[in-house]
Amino acid sequence: MKNIIIVGASHAAIEAISCLRKFGWNGNIVLIGDEDAYPYQRPPLSKGYLKGEVGNEKLLLRNPNFYEKHNVRMLLGHKVIKINRKRNFIELNSKETINYHKLILATGTRPRKLEIPGSTMPQIRYLRTIDDVNFLKNKITQNTNLLIIGAGYIGLEVAASAIMRKANVTVIESADRVLSRVTGTAISSFYHKLHATRGVKIHLNSAVAEFGSSQNVNFANFENGDQCVFDWAVVGIGVIPNIEIAEDANLECNNGIMVNEFTQTSDSDIHAIGDCSNHPSFIYQKRIRLESVPNALAQAKTAAKFICGSQQPYDQVPWFWSDQYDIKLQSVGLAIDYDRVILDGDEESHKFTVSYIKNDQIVALDAINSPREFLQTKKEISKLSSSNSNILVPE
Ligand code: NAP
Repeated sequence: MKNIIIVGASHAAIEAISCLRKFGWNGNIVLIGDEDAYPYQRPPLSKGYLKGEVGNEKLLLRNPNFYEKHNVRMLLGHKVIKINRKRNFIELNSKETINYHKLILATGTRPRKLEIPGSTMPQIRYLRTIDDVNFLKNKITQNTNLLIIGAGYIGLEVAASAIMRKANVTVIESADRVLSRVTGTAISSFYHKLHATRGVKIHLNSAVAEFGSSQNVNFANFENGDQCVFDWAVVGIGVIPNIEIAEDANLECNNGIMVNEFTQTSDSDIHAIGDCSNHPSFIYQKRIRLESVPNALAQAKTAAKFICGSQQPYDQVPWFWSDQYDIKLQSVGLAIDYDRVILDGDEESHKFTVSYIKNDQIVALDAINSPREFLQTKKEISKLSSSNSNILVPE
Protein backbone atom coordinates (compact mmCIF):
# COMPACT_ATOMS: atom_id res chain seq x y z
CA MET A 1 0.00 0.00 0.00
CA LYS A 2 1.18 3.57 -0.71
CA ASN A 3 2.67 5.58 2.17
CA ILE A 4 2.47 9.27 2.97
CA ILE A 5 5.02 10.29 5.57
CA ILE A 6 4.51 13.53 7.47
CA VAL A 7 7.56 14.88 9.31
CA GLY A 8 6.79 17.18 12.25
CA ALA A 9 3.89 16.70 14.64
CA SER A 10 2.54 20.22 14.26
CA HIS A 11 -0.71 22.06 13.56
CA ALA A 12 0.10 21.70 9.85
CA ALA A 13 0.62 17.94 10.17
CA ILE A 14 -2.63 17.27 12.00
CA GLU A 15 -4.60 19.34 9.49
CA ALA A 16 -2.89 17.44 6.66
CA ILE A 17 -4.01 14.11 8.21
CA SER A 18 -7.64 15.29 8.49
CA CYS A 19 -7.67 16.69 4.96
CA LEU A 20 -5.96 13.68 3.37
CA ARG A 21 -8.63 11.36 4.76
CA LYS A 22 -11.41 13.83 3.92
CA PHE A 23 -10.25 14.19 0.31
CA GLY A 24 -9.96 10.43 -0.17
CA TRP A 25 -6.46 9.22 0.66
CA ASN A 26 -6.83 5.48 1.40
CA GLY A 27 -3.15 4.63 1.76
CA ASN A 28 -1.03 4.61 4.89
CA ILE A 29 -0.14 7.74 6.81
CA VAL A 30 2.93 7.84 9.05
CA LEU A 31 3.44 10.78 11.42
CA ILE A 32 6.93 11.36 12.78
CA GLY A 33 7.58 13.86 15.58
CA ASP A 34 10.69 14.36 17.66
CA GLU A 35 8.86 15.22 20.91
CA ASP A 36 7.35 12.40 22.96
CA ALA A 37 4.07 14.22 23.62
CA TYR A 38 0.98 13.82 21.44
CA PRO A 39 0.79 16.78 19.04
CA TYR A 40 -0.24 19.93 20.91
CA GLN A 41 -0.97 23.58 20.19
CA ARG A 42 1.85 26.06 20.68
CA PRO A 43 -0.06 29.40 20.74
CA PRO A 44 -1.39 28.96 24.33
CA LEU A 45 2.10 28.16 25.65
CA SER A 46 3.13 31.80 26.12
CA LYS A 47 -0.41 32.85 27.08
CA GLY A 48 -3.06 30.76 28.93
CA TYR A 49 -0.82 27.77 29.61
CA LEU A 50 1.97 29.86 31.18
CA LYS A 51 -0.61 31.78 33.21
CA GLY A 52 -2.03 28.48 34.44
CA GLU A 53 -5.49 29.10 32.91
CA VAL A 54 -5.24 26.34 30.29
CA GLY A 55 -4.51 22.76 31.38
CA ASN A 56 -2.56 20.01 29.62
CA GLU A 57 -5.63 18.29 28.18
CA LYS A 58 -6.77 21.51 26.43
CA LEU A 59 -3.41 21.80 24.67
CA LEU A 60 -3.76 18.60 22.66
CA LEU A 61 -4.57 19.22 19.01
CA ARG A 62 -6.60 16.00 18.90
CA ASN A 63 -7.46 13.22 21.33
CA PRO A 64 -5.22 10.17 20.90
CA ASN A 65 -8.16 8.20 19.39
CA PHE A 66 -8.16 10.62 16.40
CA TYR A 67 -4.95 8.96 15.17
CA GLU A 68 -6.43 5.49 15.55
CA LYS A 69 -9.61 6.51 13.76
CA HIS A 70 -7.60 8.01 10.88
CA ASN A 71 -5.34 4.98 10.78
CA VAL A 72 -2.12 6.90 11.39
CA ARG A 73 1.10 5.17 12.40
CA MET A 74 2.49 7.43 15.13
CA LEU A 75 6.25 7.61 15.52
CA LEU A 76 6.62 10.08 18.40
CA GLY A 77 10.05 10.69 19.91
CA HIS A 78 11.66 9.89 16.55
CA LYS A 79 13.80 12.06 14.33
CA VAL A 80 14.25 11.86 10.56
CA ILE A 81 17.95 12.09 9.80
CA LYS A 82 18.00 11.54 6.05
CA ILE A 83 15.79 11.69 2.98
CA ASN A 84 16.78 9.42 0.12
CA ARG A 85 15.14 11.04 -2.90
CA LYS A 86 16.46 8.57 -5.44
CA ARG A 87 14.76 5.64 -3.76
CA ASN A 88 11.95 7.52 -1.95
CA PHE A 89 12.65 6.58 1.64
CA ILE A 90 13.52 8.33 4.90
CA GLU A 91 15.86 7.17 7.61
CA LEU A 92 15.15 7.64 11.31
CA ASN A 93 17.65 8.13 14.14
CA SER A 94 16.65 4.61 15.22
CA LYS A 95 18.09 3.48 11.83
CA GLU A 96 14.64 2.31 10.67
CA THR A 97 13.92 3.24 7.04
CA ILE A 98 10.43 3.87 5.66
CA ASN A 99 9.43 4.22 2.02
CA TYR A 100 7.20 7.02 0.87
CA HIS A 101 4.99 7.71 -2.10
CA LYS A 102 4.67 11.33 -0.95
CA LEU A 103 6.59 13.08 1.82
CA ILE A 104 5.25 16.14 3.64
CA LEU A 105 7.75 18.24 5.59
CA ALA A 106 6.11 20.18 8.42
CA THR A 107 9.30 20.65 10.39
CA GLY A 108 8.55 24.16 11.74
CA THR A 109 11.15 26.37 13.38
CA ARG A 110 13.37 26.47 16.45
CA PRO A 111 14.33 29.44 18.65
CA ARG A 112 17.28 31.52 17.57
CA LYS A 113 19.92 31.19 20.29
CA LEU A 114 21.60 34.09 22.02
CA GLU A 115 25.33 33.58 21.69
CA ILE A 116 27.06 35.92 24.11
CA PRO A 117 29.25 35.31 27.16
CA GLY A 118 27.22 33.60 29.89
CA SER A 119 24.28 32.71 27.64
CA THR A 120 24.54 29.00 28.48
CA MET A 121 23.81 29.70 32.17
CA PRO A 122 20.92 27.44 33.29
CA GLN A 123 18.83 30.50 34.22
CA ILE A 124 18.65 31.59 30.56
CA ARG A 125 15.65 29.83 29.00
CA TYR A 126 13.76 29.61 25.70
CA LEU A 127 10.08 29.04 25.13
CA ARG A 128 9.12 26.63 22.39
CA THR A 129 7.89 23.37 23.88
CA ILE A 130 5.51 22.24 26.59
CA ASP A 131 8.53 21.13 28.64
CA ASP A 132 10.00 24.64 28.41
CA VAL A 133 6.79 26.13 29.82
CA ASN A 134 6.30 23.46 32.49
CA PHE A 135 9.74 24.43 33.75
CA LEU A 136 9.13 28.19 33.60
CA LYS A 137 5.70 27.96 35.23
CA ASN A 138 7.30 26.77 38.45
CA LYS A 139 9.92 29.49 38.35
CA ILE A 140 7.85 32.56 37.45
CA THR A 141 5.93 33.35 40.60
CA GLN A 142 5.30 36.34 42.88
CA ASN A 143 8.33 38.67 43.01
CA THR A 144 10.46 36.60 40.60
CA ASN A 145 12.81 38.98 38.78
CA LEU A 146 12.26 38.01 35.17
CA LEU A 147 14.37 39.40 32.36
CA ILE A 148 12.98 39.02 28.84
CA ILE A 149 15.23 39.43 25.84
CA GLY A 150 13.32 40.43 22.71
CA ALA A 151 10.04 42.35 22.52
CA GLY A 152 8.35 40.28 19.80
CA TYR A 153 5.24 38.17 20.31
CA ILE A 154 7.05 35.71 22.58
CA GLY A 155 8.66 38.41 24.71
CA LEU A 156 5.52 40.50 25.20
CA GLU A 157 3.13 37.58 25.71
CA VAL A 158 5.48 36.12 28.32
CA ALA A 159 5.75 39.59 29.92
CA ALA A 160 1.94 39.85 30.20
CA SER A 161 1.63 36.30 31.58
CA ALA A 162 4.44 36.92 34.09
CA ILE A 163 2.83 40.16 35.29
CA MET A 164 -0.39 38.18 35.89
CA ARG A 165 1.78 35.82 37.98
CA LYS A 166 2.97 38.89 39.92
CA ALA A 167 6.59 38.73 38.75
CA ASN A 168 8.84 41.80 38.30
CA VAL A 169 9.43 42.03 34.57
CA THR A 170 12.15 43.77 32.54
CA VAL A 171 12.23 43.59 28.73
CA ILE A 172 15.24 44.44 26.60
CA GLU A 173 14.80 44.90 22.84
CA SER A 174 17.44 45.72 20.22
CA ALA A 175 15.06 47.59 17.88
CA ASP A 176 13.76 51.11 18.56
CA ARG A 177 10.23 49.89 19.31
CA VAL A 178 8.42 46.78 20.53
CA LEU A 179 6.84 44.36 18.00
CA SER A 180 8.83 46.08 15.26
CA ARG A 181 8.96 42.99 13.06
CA VAL A 182 5.20 42.43 13.03
CA THR A 183 3.45 45.79 13.16
CA GLY A 184 3.61 49.56 12.54
CA THR A 185 4.58 52.34 14.95
CA ALA A 186 1.08 53.13 16.27
CA ILE A 187 0.49 49.59 17.53
CA SER A 188 4.04 49.38 18.88
CA SER A 189 3.54 52.54 20.89
CA PHE A 190 0.14 51.29 22.16
CA TYR A 191 1.72 48.04 23.43
CA HIS A 192 4.70 49.85 24.91
CA LYS A 193 2.37 52.07 26.97
CA LEU A 194 0.16 49.11 27.90
CA HIS A 195 3.07 47.12 29.31
CA ALA A 196 4.63 50.14 31.01
CA THR A 197 1.31 50.87 32.75
CA ARG A 198 1.26 47.29 34.06
CA GLY A 199 4.76 47.74 35.51
CA VAL A 200 6.99 46.21 32.83
CA LYS A 201 10.32 48.04 32.49
CA ILE A 202 11.21 48.26 28.78
CA HIS A 203 14.66 49.07 27.40
CA LEU A 204 14.77 49.80 23.65
CA ASN A 205 17.78 50.12 21.33
CA SER A 206 19.56 47.87 23.78
CA ALA A 207 21.10 44.43 23.95
CA VAL A 208 22.68 42.25 26.59
CA ALA A 209 26.48 42.15 26.23
CA GLU A 210 27.05 39.40 28.79
CA PHE A 211 25.46 37.45 31.62
CA GLY A 212 27.17 36.56 34.85
CA SER A 213 26.55 35.72 38.46
CA SER A 214 28.18 36.62 41.71
CA GLN A 215 27.24 35.40 45.20
CA ASN A 216 24.09 33.73 43.88
CA VAL A 217 22.91 36.88 42.11
CA ASN A 218 22.55 36.71 38.31
CA PHE A 219 23.14 39.84 36.33
CA ALA A 220 22.97 40.99 32.71
CA ASN A 221 25.34 43.72 31.58
CA PHE A 222 23.77 45.75 28.76
CA GLU A 223 25.82 47.07 25.85
CA ASN A 224 25.09 50.66 26.98
CA GLY A 225 26.62 50.04 30.41
CA ASP A 226 23.36 49.48 32.34
CA GLN A 227 22.94 46.38 34.47
CA CYS A 228 19.91 44.31 35.47
CA VAL A 229 19.75 41.56 38.09
CA PHE A 230 17.45 38.62 37.45
CA ASP A 231 16.37 35.23 38.74
CA TRP A 232 15.35 33.86 35.34
CA ALA A 233 15.64 35.11 31.78
CA VAL A 234 13.52 34.17 28.76
CA VAL A 235 14.96 34.73 25.30
CA GLY A 236 12.55 35.42 22.41
CA ILE A 237 14.73 36.80 19.62
CA GLY A 238 13.13 35.06 16.67
CA VAL A 239 13.23 31.64 15.10
CA ILE A 240 15.14 29.65 12.48
CA PRO A 241 13.31 27.37 10.05
CA ASN A 242 14.19 23.68 10.36
CA ILE A 243 15.43 23.02 6.84
CA GLU A 244 18.53 20.91 7.46
CA ILE A 245 17.12 17.57 6.25
CA ALA A 246 15.74 19.32 3.15
CA GLU A 247 19.05 21.03 2.43
CA ASP A 248 20.90 17.78 2.97
CA ALA A 249 18.61 16.20 0.35
CA ASN A 250 19.44 19.06 -2.05
CA LEU A 251 15.93 20.48 -2.05
CA GLU A 252 15.90 24.14 -3.00
CA CYS A 253 15.98 26.29 0.17
CA ASN A 254 16.23 30.02 0.77
CA ASN A 255 14.84 31.30 4.07
CA GLY A 256 12.75 28.14 4.26
CA ILE A 257 12.08 25.23 1.93
CA MET A 258 11.03 26.65 -1.42
CA VAL A 259 7.59 25.49 -2.57
CA ASN A 260 5.23 26.31 -5.43
CA GLU A 261 1.59 27.41 -5.08
CA PHE A 262 0.62 23.75 -4.46
CA THR A 263 3.24 23.38 -1.67
CA GLN A 264 5.46 21.11 -3.82
CA THR A 265 9.19 21.49 -3.24
CA SER A 266 11.78 21.22 -6.03
CA ASP A 267 11.04 17.46 -5.82
CA SER A 268 7.44 16.87 -6.89
CA ASP A 269 7.04 13.94 -4.44
CA ILE A 270 7.92 16.16 -1.48
CA HIS A 271 5.73 18.93 -0.05
CA ALA A 272 6.64 21.46 2.64
CA ILE A 273 3.99 23.23 4.72
CA GLY A 274 3.83 25.70 7.61
CA ASP A 275 6.58 27.83 9.16
CA CYS A 276 9.41 25.93 7.42
CA SER A 277 8.16 26.67 3.88
CA ASN A 278 8.78 29.64 1.63
CA HIS A 279 5.90 30.14 -0.80
CA PRO A 280 4.88 32.51 -3.61
CA SER A 281 2.34 35.07 -2.40
CA PHE A 282 -0.11 36.26 -5.07
CA ILE A 283 -1.17 39.24 -3.04
CA TYR A 284 2.33 40.57 -2.30
CA GLN A 285 3.80 39.31 -5.59
CA LYS A 286 6.86 37.92 -3.90
CA ARG A 287 8.05 34.89 -1.98
CA ILE A 288 7.40 34.87 1.76
CA ARG A 289 7.87 32.59 4.76
CA LEU A 290 5.15 33.01 7.36
CA GLU A 291 5.25 32.07 11.02
CA SER A 292 1.55 31.62 11.56
CA VAL A 293 -0.93 28.90 12.47
CA PRO A 294 -3.59 29.95 9.89
CA ASN A 295 -0.94 29.74 7.15
CA ALA A 296 0.07 26.27 8.33
CA LEU A 297 -3.54 25.04 8.28
CA ALA A 298 -4.26 26.45 4.82
CA GLN A 299 -1.06 25.05 3.32
CA ALA A 300 -1.86 21.63 4.81
CA LYS A 301 -5.21 21.71 3.03
CA THR A 302 -3.61 22.74 -0.27
CA ALA A 303 -1.06 19.91 -0.02
CA ALA A 304 -3.68 17.28 0.87
CA LYS A 305 -5.97 18.39 -1.98
CA PHE A 306 -3.11 18.31 -4.45
CA ILE A 307 -2.00 14.84 -3.40
CA CYS A 308 -5.61 13.64 -3.71
CA GLY A 309 -5.86 15.03 -7.24
CA SER A 310 -7.35 18.53 -6.92
CA GLN A 311 -5.18 21.50 -7.89
CA GLN A 312 -6.25 24.52 -5.90
CA PRO A 313 -3.42 27.04 -5.47
CA TYR A 314 -2.70 28.43 -2.03
CA ASP A 315 -3.77 32.09 -1.87
CA GLN A 316 -4.58 32.71 1.80
CA VAL A 317 -4.16 36.22 3.13
CA PRO A 318 -1.76 36.11 6.10
CA TRP A 319 -3.34 36.69 9.49
CA PHE A 320 -2.15 36.53 13.09
CA TRP A 321 -3.37 37.18 16.59
CA SER A 322 -1.90 37.91 19.98
CA ASP A 323 -3.43 37.98 23.47
CA GLN A 324 -1.79 40.18 26.08
CA TYR A 325 -3.63 41.06 29.33
CA ASP A 326 -7.25 41.60 28.26
CA ILE A 327 -6.33 42.88 24.81
CA LYS A 328 -6.73 40.90 21.60
CA LEU A 329 -4.71 42.00 18.60
CA GLN A 330 -5.84 40.57 15.26
CA SER A 331 -3.74 41.41 12.23
CA VAL A 332 -4.49 40.68 8.60
CA GLY A 333 -2.15 41.28 5.69
CA LEU A 334 1.50 42.30 5.98
CA ALA A 335 2.22 45.88 6.98
CA ILE A 336 5.46 45.95 4.99
CA ASP A 337 4.82 48.22 2.03
CA TYR A 338 2.29 51.05 2.49
CA ASP A 339 2.14 54.79 1.89
CA ARG A 340 -0.18 55.88 4.71
CA VAL A 341 -2.01 54.64 7.79
CA ILE A 342 -5.49 55.43 9.09
CA LEU A 343 -6.31 55.15 12.79
CA ASP A 344 -10.00 54.52 13.58
CA GLY A 345 -11.55 54.29 17.03
CA ASP A 346 -10.36 55.17 20.46
CA GLU A 347 -6.96 54.10 21.72
CA GLU A 348 -7.84 55.07 25.29
CA SER A 349 -10.78 52.64 25.40
CA HIS A 350 -8.58 49.87 23.97
CA LYS A 351 -10.76 49.42 20.89
CA PHE A 352 -9.36 50.73 17.62
CA THR A 353 -7.91 49.76 14.26
CA VAL A 354 -4.92 50.81 12.19
CA SER A 355 -5.31 50.39 8.41
CA TYR A 356 -2.26 50.30 6.14
CA ILE A 357 -2.96 51.76 2.70
CA LYS A 358 -1.07 51.51 -0.56
CA ASN A 359 -2.33 53.31 -3.69
CA ASP A 360 -5.69 53.89 -1.96
CA GLN A 361 -6.08 50.17 -1.38
CA ILE A 362 -6.04 48.61 2.10
CA VAL A 363 -3.19 46.07 2.29
CA ALA A 364 -3.15 45.30 6.02
CA LEU A 365 -5.04 45.98 9.24
CA ASP A 366 -4.25 45.72 12.94
CA ALA A 367 -7.41 45.46 15.03
CA ILE A 368 -7.35 45.98 18.79
CA ASN A 369 -10.41 44.36 20.39
CA SER A 370 -12.25 44.90 17.08
CA PRO A 371 -13.12 41.45 15.68
CA ARG A 372 -15.81 42.71 13.31
CA GLU A 373 -13.51 45.17 11.55
CA PHE A 374 -10.86 42.45 11.35
CA LEU A 375 -13.23 40.03 9.60
CA GLN A 376 -14.52 42.66 7.16
CA THR A 377 -10.99 43.66 6.14
CA LYS A 378 -9.89 40.04 5.87
CA LYS A 379 -12.63 39.52 3.29
CA GLU A 380 -11.63 42.67 1.43
CA ILE A 381 -7.92 41.77 1.25
CA SER A 382 -8.78 38.19 0.25
CA LYS A 383 -10.55 39.54 -2.84
CA LEU A 384 -7.34 41.37 -3.77
CA SER A 385 -5.40 38.13 -3.38
CA SER A 386 -7.79 36.18 -5.63
CA SER A 387 -7.72 38.91 -8.27
CA ASN A 388 -3.89 38.63 -8.39
CA SER A 389 -3.86 34.84 -8.58
CA ASN A 390 -3.27 34.73 -12.34
CA ILE A 391 -0.13 36.89 -12.10
CA LEU A 392 3.13 34.97 -11.93
CA VAL A 393 5.01 35.72 -8.68
CA PRO A 394 8.64 36.72 -9.44
CA GLU A 395 11.25 34.28 -8.05
P1 NAP B 1 10.21 37.92 16.72
O1 NAP B 1 8.81 38.25 16.45
O2 NAP B 1 11.17 37.82 15.59
O3 NAP B 1 10.74 39.00 17.78
C1 NAP B 1 12.03 38.97 18.28
C2 NAP B 1 12.47 40.38 18.65
O4 NAP B 1 13.71 40.29 19.33
C3 NAP B 1 12.70 41.25 17.42
O5 NAP B 1 12.13 42.52 17.64
C4 NAP B 1 14.21 41.34 17.35
O6 NAP B 1 14.68 42.53 16.79
C5 NAP B 1 14.58 41.29 18.82
N1 NAP B 1 15.97 40.88 19.03
C6 NAP B 1 16.77 40.15 18.22
N2 NAP B 1 17.98 39.96 18.79
C7 NAP B 1 17.94 40.59 19.98
C8 NAP B 1 18.88 40.74 21.04
N3 NAP B 1 20.10 40.20 20.98
N4 NAP B 1 18.53 41.46 22.13
C9 NAP B 1 17.29 42.02 22.20
N5 NAP B 1 16.36 41.91 21.23
C10 NAP B 1 16.68 41.18 20.14
O7 NAP B 1 10.34 36.49 17.46
P2 NAP B 1 9.72 35.87 18.81
O8 NAP B 1 8.95 36.87 19.59
O9 NAP B 1 10.89 35.17 19.42
O10 NAP B 1 8.71 34.82 18.25
C11 NAP B 1 9.19 33.57 17.82
C12 NAP B 1 8.14 32.81 17.03
O11 NAP B 1 7.02 32.51 17.81
C13 NAP B 1 7.66 33.56 15.84
O12 NAP B 1 7.47 32.59 14.84
C14 NAP B 1 6.34 34.09 16.29
O13 NAP B 1 5.50 34.35 15.20
C15 NAP B 1 5.85 32.93 17.14
N6 NAP B 1 4.86 33.38 18.12
C16 NAP B 1 3.71 33.91 17.66
C17 NAP B 1 2.77 34.35 18.55
C18 NAP B 1 1.54 34.97 18.02
O14 NAP B 1 1.31 34.91 16.81
N7 NAP B 1 0.73 35.57 18.87
C19 NAP B 1 3.00 34.29 19.91
C20 NAP B 1 4.18 33.74 20.36
C21 NAP B 1 5.10 33.28 19.43
P3 NAP B 1 15.21 42.50 15.26
O15 NAP B 1 14.00 42.23 14.42
O16 NAP B 1 15.81 43.86 15.11
O17 NAP B 1 16.20 41.36 15.16
